[in-house]
Amino acid sequence: MLDKYVKPDFIFDSYRDVTPEFLKTDQIDALICDIDNTLVTYDDAEPTEEVICWYEELKRNGIQVAFVSNNNRQRVSLFNSKLNAPAFHNSRKPSRYALRRAIAAMGAAPARTAVLGDQLFTDVMAAKRLGISAIIVTPIKDRKSVFFRIKRAFERPLLRRYKKASGMNG
Ligand SMILES: [Mg+2]
Repeated sequence: MLDKYVKPDFIFDSYRDVTPEFLKTDQIDALICDIDNTLVTYDDAEPTEEVICWYEELKRNGIQVAFVSNNNRQRVSLFNSKLNAPAFHNSRKPSRYALRRAIAAMGAAPARTAVLGDQLFTDVMAAKRLGISAIIVTPIKDRKSVFFRIKRAFERPLLRRYKKASGMNG
């Protein structure tokens, strides 16, 4: 069943809703974070002031953060240059490989680790294939490519159903 692989545990509008308080309630102390359309748009080379504040707030509260992106080295290292988190590029999510490396780099317990992303078929699927929690946010700005729009069209009814089922953050 598809649900097993693409159903997120939590759905939020924005990464800003993923607070230390929420994570602690769910006993999560390590976050594997997607970059593109989760934290910033494709056009933002560097983290915004808001992202930096959010990141520092997590760190202050003992939440570990790593970045796992399917984007290239240049994009990931420039984005990460001010944050200096463990960061992995060309991750090929839904592959689990980079997720495992991120967990190891953080010294995190998989049971207390969640993936934060914007795509069911890469971010959530990678998390679920590894058996860890997945938090999905609304993409900041959908890319305008035909492929992306087709993929999103497939995701939309699933997202709607999951939101309805969980009764949260519609
Ligand atoms: Mg993304």
